[in-house]
Amino acid sequence: MFSERDLQELFDFTPERPILSLYLNTKTSEGTIDVAKLHLHNMLKSVDLPKDVQAIEQYSNMNYDWKSQSLAMFSCADQGFFRAYPLSVPVNDQVKTTERPVTRPLIHIMETYGYWGIVLVDKQGARLFSFHLGGLEEVGGFLGEEIKQIKRGGASSVRGRKGGSSSSANIENIIDRNMGKIAEYAGAFFKTRHIRRIMIGGSDDNIVRFKESLPKSWQSLVAASFPLSMTSDHSEILERAFQVAKEAEHGHQSKMVKQAIILAAKGSNGVIGLNDTLNAIHTGQAQTVLVLESYSEHGFRCPGCGFMTTQALALCPFCSGAFIRINDAVEMSVRVAKQKNASVLIIPENNALKEAGAIAAILRY
Ligand SMILES: [Zn+2]
Repeated sequence: MFSERDLQELFDFTPERPILSLYLNTKTSEGTIDVAKLHLHNMLKSVDLPKDVQAIEQYSNMNYDWKSQSLAMFSCADQGFFRAYPLSVPVNDQVKTTERPVTRPLIHIMETYGYWGIVLVDKQGARLFSFHLGGLEEVGGFLGEEIKQIKRGGASSVRGRKGGSSSSANIENIIDRNMGKIAEYAGAFFKTRHIRRIMIGGSDDNIVRFKESLPKSWQSLVAASFPLSMTSDHSEILERAFQVAKEAEHGHQSKMVKQAIILAAKGSNGVIGLNDTLNAIHTGQAQTVLVLESYSEHGFRCPGCGFMTTQALALCPFCSGAFIRINDAVEMSVRVAKQKNASVLIIPENNALKEAGAIAAILRY
């Protein structure tokens, strides 16, 4: 399965020749492999890099089983570089020849569907799942002390009578102990699996109790909770996980876009539009870069200091170097932002961001 390390490798790869990046949905609406193959063939017709086209055709004909939902491929044959990643989530078809690998769809997939932990919890135990890029794996379960049913006429109806409240208190103690142990067990799982966000399924009451049992650092990663039975099957959990992950990411993105635009309008810690964002990335001011997935713009890059702009300047304002023209300043800026430890949100669609110039950033200072 595609991992953060693979993504990092793509960021670190600095080809001297243009690289071919290709994203393909292999599950077409027509549903057949032949249709998907034909579609790939047609996409490659526009590419003027015969060795890279050959590498992709060879992989898709000889080595790929056409079972995944989609496929991301990168080829720079002149440098002996070829990577293919079958994915379990859909992508938008695209083929591009650029200075650096096109990573935005993968960043978006990783942000949305990467490294989730799912906990289904009740008063006695929990089932734990890892949800990563569309793959669901049940990694363990925990069963604590049994909760004995209160006898008729017990705690609730005869509160205060001798025996009633102590039995109820006893049950509460057992639940507290169970929750504590579940939290401990879940914490170990979150840690070993490098979980970045958590969803909790259960009754409202159990969700609250479990969340409160978690240390604050894990609580802050809880991004969603929903009613779901402990006995749910994998397809039910997977369907819910996809939906919840998508909604959580969409909500987060909309919030960040709004924030960037408001900050920019106030002349505070925000910028909108490509040139101001390129500047903020170059100076290390950009903390979060927000960019539409499909946005592309040619530009100029100073090889001396890496500064990029869309303006045809004679000399670099930072180091007086001469510029070279690049095919996609947006893709390059995403990569530089990542290298400078900014977080980058790749946004499939957002009208406010589109009107603001398709790219924006929230600044550190
Ligand atoms: Zn420069």
